[in-house]
Amino acid sequence: MRMSTRFIREDIDPTTGAVTYPIYQTSAFLLPMGEKYRYSRELNPTTEQLAEKVSAIEGTEAGTAFSSGMGAITSTLLSLVSPGSRILVGRDVFARTYRFISGFLSKWGVNVDVADPGSENILGKIREDTDLIIIEGLTNPILRVNNIPEISRKAKEAGAILAVDSTFATPVNQRPATMGADIVIHSASKFLSGHNDVIAGIAAGKKEYIRKIDDMRRNLGSSLDPHAAYLVLRGIKTLKVRMDAINKSAFMIAKYLEESGKIKRVIYPGLESHPDHDTARQIMDGFGGVVSFEVEGSEKDALELIGKLDLITSANTLGGVNSTISHPKTMSHRGLNDDERKLTGISDNLLRLSVGLEDPEDLINDLNGAIL
Ligand SMILES: *Cc1c(COP(=O)(O)O)cnc(C)c1O
Repeated sequence: MRMSTRFIREDIDPTTGAVTYPIYQTSAFLLPMGEKYRYSRELNPTTEQLAEKVSAIEGTEAGTAFSSGMGAITSTLLSLVSPGSRILVGRDVFARTYRFISGFLSKWGVNVDVADPGSENILGKIREDTDLIIIEGLTNPILRVNNIPEISRKAKEAGAILAVDSTFATPVNQRPATMGADIVIHSASKFLSGHNDVIAGIAAGKKEYIRKIDDMRRNLGSSLDPHAAYLVLRGIKTLKVRMDAINKSAFMIAKYLEESGKIKRVIYPGLESHPDHDTARQIMDGFGGVVSFEVEGSEKDALELIGKLDLITSANTLGGVNSTISHPKTMSHRGLNDDERKLTGISDNLLRLSVGLEDPEDLINDLNGAIL
């Protein structure tokens, strides 16, 4: 089955024949009738349907759904590392992922190695005793494209598990498991659901890992509500058409910004000026919906630009049908100190634009009015 068909297909409800998979909004199931389903924190048919769908799209053996992307990340890490383990994290991961690892896990007794942005730095930090590597395929917000095939090869040599947060890339543009990643993680709050109206997460991968991660989900209670699962399922049906349009618009906007001559630096993997452009062309089918850029001037100038936008909303999220913009220093990455931000490449005047489904000409006009 081709990719675009897999986004549409879902199981017909076996009890009623409903052509759209129903929301099983129930906490529990009649026993002993239900052997498989007993209690919705453990397993619910609607959330199970979502996990299986994402797993099929990513080309993995199994999947499990969470109440948030962070639920997926923390449950994954807590089930696969323990005191004495050694974990390697890319510095340019989601700020809260970094905080959980550098704060909680290291205090808990896990040895933490941090790699500066870029595949060479990650490859250089893999040790013989590395147990788990967590990176993003396309990183937030500086949009480095990590060379997953090379990193997975070296991870295998070291006997390390490779987990890739694929939130920014989406399965339309990249499928890390087909390039050797053991676990693929999503914040489904972003492109997968796609409408800025739900918080959810997914982990998909090899059965031996997902079994442990799923058990941790049941322990921690980071399980997804069936109604939220339905919203993500609904969103995924249009993921392919949304991303095709968003990839195109984002590229247009990146080109416009670069050619305007009024922006200090435009960061988009589709541009030849991007440091990982060649890698991106090799391992991505599209360059994604996020365009980051550094404005001329200071933090104040960056914030002023946001203030002048009309159509594009200032918000701490991305991946929705409506375009949003954020100032990473004071918003998504405010938890990092100055040194950490510098090493990650987040400058004071960096903005992160998530391109939605508005007409790209309107978005360009909005940006044009705000950029002096
Ligand atoms: C948003 C995000 C997360 C966290 O997901 P939540 O659903 O907000 O918990 C993790 N990784 C990346 C790359 C994200 O953008």
